[in-house]
Amino acid sequence: MTGDLSAHVSDSFWQAELDRIDLFAFLTASADKGGPFGAALVAFHPASSLIVRFGGYDSNAVVSTGIASNHAEAENLSVRRRQSVVQFLSQRRGEGWCIIHLSSGESCPSCRAKQILFAAELCFAGLLPPTGGFHVVFKSTYEDALKDSGFDDYKFDTFFRFVHPLYLLKKGKLSRYLAAGGGASTTMATPAPTAAETQPAASSWMLGKDKVLHENEISRKLLESGHLVTTPVKSVLSAGLPAAVKSMFPSVGSRTPFAVVWNETEHRVLGCSADTRPSRGSSTTTPATSVNVFENTAVMRALHGAATAARQEGVFASWDLHRSVVYTNIADIGPLAYSESLWFNIGCFMIVTDFTHPEIELAARESPHLPNDRLFSLVSMEYDDVDSSPVVVSFPYATRRGALAQRYWGTKMEAEQLKAKLAEMPRRTIYYADDDGVGLKPGNDSLQLIAGKATTTTNYNPKSSATPSSSSQSKL
Ligand SMILES: [Zn+2]
Repeated sequence: MTGDLSAHVSDSFWQAELDRIDLFAFLTASADKGGPFGAALVAFHPASSLIVRFGGYDSNAVVSTGIASNHAEAENLSVRRRQSVVQFLSQRRGEGWCIIHLSSGESCPSCRAKQILFAAELCFAGLLPPTGGFHVVFKSTYEDALKDSGFDDYKFDTFFRFVHPLYLLKKGKLSRYLAAGGGASTTMATPAPTAAETQPAASSWMLGKDKVLHENEISRKLLESGHLVTTPVKSVLSAGLPAAVKSMFPSVGSRTPFAVVWNETEHRVLGCSADTRPSRGSSTTTPATSVNVFENTAVMRALHGAATAARQEGVFASWDLHRSVVYTNIADIGPLAYSESLWFNIGCFMIVTDFTHPEIELAARESPHLPNDRLFSLVSMEYDDVDSSPVVVSFPYATRRGALAQRYWGTKMEAEQLKAKLAEMPRRTIYYADDDGVGLKPGNDSLQLIAGKATTTTNYNPKSSATPSSSSQSKL
């Protein structure tokens, strides 16, 4: 199987499948489950054209669950589904199957991190070839989603698009770049990854990223215009921690990845967790269908726990953690933790440097097979870098067409804005004519949705049945 599936995915069946997923997203968004996005996960056998789908369609569940990153693709890549895929491919080794992840919208960096994590896991297990075995095919682009529904994934993805052009991951090159006076003359060419990138990070490369982004002319302008949104990463010594946060770290031990979500305004812990995945070298027998449960990494659990607790406290927009700080003993923050921090509106990562340890870095790897900076490199690759990435991303159309569900969402948002605007407008009494056109009654109309049908209900004011005088007529 080669990486080129274009002949297959441009087939009318796949485009119809994307349309069906889009229609499904329209229906679930109409039912207030979440945003207007859908996805499906299938295995495809190019030689025989056999297609096997894992479960049904899934859709965005942010509104219903309160979790910022419960996007359609993430729902689709649940632990159960991943186990199902591993089981399926394990029984068909060498037969040439590939995995296709269909999405009604271009995947955000958080979903892409999950796709890369799972694809890499399948590759390392020998269930897929190193490249060309895992495909992502999408219907609408970031630009479509922004224009039609107001969702701006692009501003979050922009940071990932700068990782390679600004050499953020290149050891040595970062310091040379800074010594050369910033990025004014830096070309946008994407360098190929080197062997040096595959080594574990001695310290967080992310501590230097904010300085580089501000010194590069292009990224600085994007930051200033809001088209590039990042989560700052800083370091702190434990002596500088809030007392409530500091007291939590020792309880998890000095070799366990740990993260705390701290709301500085309210001065309280919103969520915290250790990495709860089985430790490497564990003597526990590993079942054939076991998968890397990246949902159980420390930062993921802390963020999701904070949002879940907020929802239980009755907060509807529980996905917004209001610029809270994530304190962690993980120096090399992975692409999944980082991208999720964007969706949860985290204000800053604080690496507690005197609590970091090489064993924590090993245990905190989002993919057990790769250091987090190497994984970051893969998530930051361009879509057409098919020789380096375990995921091939394809847009199977000659021209952009957008998505039905997103256009619906945009109209729904516009309707709600109009409703709010009209509620602010001064009301005037309206007089309603009897059928014979003689009697007049004052009242007002309200728009209602009853059993899915739009109706207008007239609420007559029983206290007033006066016929308007000519002077009040003039105010009508
Ligand atoms: Zn996403």
